[in-house]
Amino acid sequence: MKIPRSLEVAYLLGRLERLARSGVNVGGLNPAQWEALRYLARANRFSRTPAALADYLGSTRGTVSQTLIALEQKGLARRSASRRDGRSVELALTPRGEALLKQDHIHDLARDIAAGTGDDAADLLAALQAVLRATIARNEGRAFGVCHTCRHFHCDVRPGAASPHHCGLLDEPLSRADSEAICQEQEIA
Ligand code: SF4
Repeated sequence: MKIPRSLEVAYLLGRLERLARSGVNVGGLNPAQWEALRYLARANRFSRTPAALADYLGSTRGTVSQTLIALEQKGLARRSASRRDGRSVELALTPRGEALLKQDHIHDLARDIAAGTGDDAADLLAALQAVLRATIARNEGRAFGVCHTCRHFHCDVRPGAASPHHCGLLDEPLSRADSEAICQEQEIA
């Protein structure tokens, strides 16, 4: 019986994911710990919380808590009281965590993707983004998209300022770096 192409791709994605992390033990981190480090490097200040990290990973709060404890013990991440409301917890990478991310083995997979697509991954990116949207909708999860693609993003409302953009939802100024970060509140424009 002929296997549908969609199923073939699903097998392929699963195998790629396993192969990409097999035999890799940089920094003595497990895959969940690497995912958490990547998230903290990419998420904006409104999204670096244990709850948002759990949503992003599709994991439980308890599992994420164990992951964060391990990262703190290794000196790669830290928790502090939120600067916005003082009650919730804010997460951040330490300089050591940022340094370790430079050795992230995901760059090996990125090189394989560049080689496999002739250095033009735009079509593959668009297709995988569409697949991810469908999976997120099925799981009733959040997109965690990039800020400048959000319907609440107001571009260059303060030209020349350190934070020239603005978030209409949270009523907060946004820097250029913020505009490239991912956000738990993002809604596609
Ligand atoms: S504009 Fe959207 S993505 Fe950016 S901070 Fe606001 S809610 Fe988040």
